[in-house]
Amino acid sequence: MSSQIVRPLDSVSAFLKRQHGLYIDGGWVAARGQGTLPVFNPATGEQIATTADADEADVDQAVQSAHQAFISGVWSRRLPAERERILLRYADLLEQHTEELAQLETLEQGKSIAIARAFEVGSTLNWMRYTAGLATKVSGRTLDLSIPMPEGARYTAFTRKEPVGVVAGIVPWNFPLMIGMWKVMPALAAGCSIVIKPSEITPLTLLRMAELATEAGVPPGVFNVVTGSGGVCGRVLTSHPLVSKISFTGSTATGKGIARSAVDSLKRITLELGGKNPAIVLKDADIQQVVEGLMMGSFLNQGQVCAASSRLYVEAPIFDQVAAAFEGAVKGLTVGPGLDPSFQINPLASQAHQAKVLGYLEDARRQDAELIRGAQGPNGNGFYVSPTLVLNPDNHLTLTREEVFGPVLCLSRVDDVEQALALANDSDYGLTASLWTRDLNAAMNLTPRIEAGTVWVNSHTLIDANMPFGGFKQSGTGRDFGADWLDAYTETKSVCIRH
Ligand code: NDP
Repeated sequence: MSSQIVRPLDSVSAFLKRQHGLYIDGGWVAARGQGTLPVFNPATGEQIATTADADEADVDQAVQSAHQAFISGVWSRRLPAERERILLRYADLLEQHTEELAQLETLEQGKSIAIARAFEVGSTLNWMRYTAGLATKVSGRTLDLSIPMPEGARYTAFTRKEPVGVVAGIVPWNFPLMIGMWKVMPALAAGCSIVIKPSEITPLTLLRMAELATEAGVPPGVFNVVTGSGGVCGRVLTSHPLVSKISFTGSTATGKGIARSAVDSLKRITLELGGKNPAIVLKDADIQQVVEGLMMGSFLNQGQVCAASSRLYVEAPIFDQVAAAFEGAVKGLTVGPGLDPSFQINPLASQAHQAKVLGYLEDARRQDAELIRGAQGPNGNGFYVSPTLVLNPDNHLTLTREEVFGPVLCLSRVDDVEQALALANDSDYGLTASLWTRDLNAAMNLTPRIEAGTVWVNSHTLIDANMPFGGFKQSGTGRDFGADWLDAYTETKSVCIRH
């Protein structure tokens, strides 16, 4: 097969070579902390950039800047239509830089350049424009009251939605640009200021997006980026007294720690956490549709997707046929670097994560699970893991209970739909699920019995700016997206008027 590898743009090469600082108060600031953090290309294992490792004083400077900008009213009291116009311009700038941002994402995260263009940038544009429009839709209610005193007085009240203040945004490494914008856009549309921390593994695209925000007209201090470790930079940011709200996407373990520290000052929190998402395949399902939909649902971005299907429960009469179709599909996947769009499976985001996923597989193998492996990645130092099916794993294997976040799909035969439901709900997580059937009655009857924030019927992992997204159980608290998204970035103030 001839290589279709994409050559990085000159602007991308130049960006990688920069001495990266922190983005505070509308410009680059050298970190006071002396430490730096390397950024690696997952396809080669080579270091491609160096970023600053912010310390406590650096984070404090960023939060102070966001706080000053907020109380000055330079953004929070701006006309909603002006905020909307600037945020739409921001989306236009991303669109103009699609290739540059997509390449940066592939280089730091490993994903296919095709996925980076279509999802990381293309879908993000949809979200940005949708959210920019919410800036002009913020509204309260008028309330007729029944307060009886003094005699003859009447009271009318109304509610105002006011921006909550400084937001701390914490972003994971699987979709850094997209998830970063899921925090920046609602915060800015609501009139808040934000300090955002990307994962130290994938900091580059958000640094570039900070520059574009300033170019679009977002005032200094309203959008700040600090890079650094979760343990210092993230912890200091989320516990800072001037932060009013935390919007966190990441693992359940880290999310719980953040929630605990937020209690002291009762910060508002939105937590989008992990998932161990089931798919239930009924015996009347369209098998071709199942395989196409769940191959995408399970292996997109190498399975590093919180919403990914990772546990399939298939009714016995069609199990062998479904398993054979998945085996063929998995063995047909090609594995290679993300800059070559012809490869369907690319490296995982980091060496540590590669080791973690391989550890889950080794543990399953030692416990006699039946593994079916697809192609291996190229020889070299890239962080590859072969796409893998696990057939009928024991429900108590670590791999069937914990979030693997890799190209691994478990397939289990079930006697009937009641057994499938019991197994699907037997999880601490409750992020997403899917049902595969041609029977509308079955779909409608089963949907309310599934413990998940999103249930798809005959598809999986399809998300949209207008459809609320979030978790039941330990998959999080709060919802992103949808018409009510900005509620999480505003306080409701009741104003009561005697007349
Ligand atoms: P982590 O929880 O390890 O990290 C997430 C972010 O938190 C990173 O920026 C990390 O920084 C930071 N962080 C780590 N420790 C702290 C701390 N003590 N205080 C503040 N911030 C901290 O998750 P991953 O990056 O490994 O991301 C994968 C996880 O994200 C999976 O569990 C996945 O399911 C979940 N996810 C959930 C989504 C949803 O919408 N529900 C969507 C996408 C992913 P650093 O990396 O620099 O250490």
